[in-house]
Amino acid sequence: MTDLNGLAVYIETFGCQMNENDSERIAGLLAAAGARLADRPEESQVTIVNTCAVRAKSEEKLFSYLGRLRSLKKKTGLVVVLAGCVAQLRRDKILDRNPDVDFILGPDNYHRLPELLERRLGQPRVLTAWSKEWREDDRRHCLRRSPVSAFVTVMEGCDNFCAYCIVPFTRGREKFRPLRAVLDEVRTLAGEGYKEIQFLGQNVNSYRDPATGAVFRDLLTAADEIEGIEWIRFITSHPKNFNDDMAEAMARSSHVCRQIHLPLQSGSSAVLERMKRGYSRESYLEKIRGLRSLMPEICLSTDIIVGFPGETESEFSETLAALRDIRYANIFSFRYSPRPGTSAAKLTDDVPFEVKRRRLMEVQQTQKAIQTGIHEGFIGRTIRVLCQGKSKKDGRVYSGRSEGYQVVNFRSETDVIGRFVQVRITSSGPYSLRGELSGIP
Ligand code: SF4
Repeated sequence: MTDLNGLAVYIETFGCQMNENDSERIAGLLAAAGARLADRPEESQVTIVNTCAVRAKSEEKLFSYLGRLRSLKKKTGLVVVLAGCVAQLRRDKILDRNPDVDFILGPDNYHRLPELLERRLGQPRVLTAWSKEWREDDRRHCLRRSPVSAFVTVMEGCDNFCAYCIVPFTRGREKFRPLRAVLDEVRTLAGEGYKEIQFLGQNVNSYRDPATGAVFRDLLTAADEIEGIEWIRFITSHPKNFNDDMAEAMARSSHVCRQIHLPLQSGSSAVLERMKRGYSRESYLEKIRGLRSLMPEICLSTDIIVGFPGETESEFSETLAALRDIRYANIFSFRYSPRPGTSAAKLTDDVPFEVKRRRLMEVQQTQKAIQTGIHEGFIGRTIRVLCQGKSKKDGRVYSGRSEGYQVVNFRSETDVIGRFVQVRITSSGPYSLRGELSGIP
């Protein structure tokens, strides 16, 4: 049996919820094998950098972080392991530019870490093999950051090859976790006191249980019946695969939150076609209308990319118009940057940087005004909030999320972390709501 004998390991995570959940799994695997988790690289013998390649910016951040580790390595002999998407994709460039990196590990190989660390890695320095099938780890050891809300991965990879996206090259093709394993994990989490779960996958809508063929709608329906889990969320849904059956399953359920992240990317059908997204502005709007007719209170969020190759001013203005029409509760917006190996990287990146910057600002200002208006509409209402934690500055200020995923801050004299509370909203800003605790059911 592997014994890491108190080896001090620090894990730094860049990127999305998938990466955060991978880091929680890695931490669990290593702790179960006898490692001690450190709070800072300076306190570790091994630092694992779990990387994200989706945006050029996260890749740049990674290279600057590696520069910082280099001086630490000189002083202390720190072992540096690069894991995750960038590791998978850019292994040769990384080894060329960063000879100090001791080991490179792709996302399908995390289960090998305890054994590799036991023999202090060694040769070859790269392990980036793919597996076509789902490999089920023992998730009992997953060390979750939150004691309240837990990520549960249901699938990995993507078959869609959107023109700008690197995920199919870093995470590989779609693989689905057996339904039985997903539901077992949810039951375990309910038993441990978790109140909320978030199903994760690059495209959860394409989920299909390898054994029975059950689809994501069936998974939601089955999870809805598990006692103890009050709120169920999922991310990410591809609009192309989101259908009426899924919307109806959400509407029928008692615990699936009236909230969905549905990445639009652009409000122009012509840009969507160049992005190879597989839906048009009209078909997307039709889905939103369907969702709102079933669940009028549903909160929507989205991703927007500005400055995709060839995006004209009039195409861009369709994105602004879509934001005003749909009135999302939240958006994540980005400037387009070409990612190596994608089909969009072969197009001329012809929208000047200054134009991308201005468009991004316009998107963010438009959305800020929309969010401000939505949040003002909450003032005077009492809403249910799941308390997630408290302020570091003031121990009586707690923070939680509403069912629609709005951040809600409030004061409480008693510790309510992990509990549902009623909060009467008294004021708001564009990014959060503030209120008074009015009840602890
Ligand atoms: S659906 Fe498109 S954007 Fe999403 S992960 Fe797959 S390729 Fe990337």
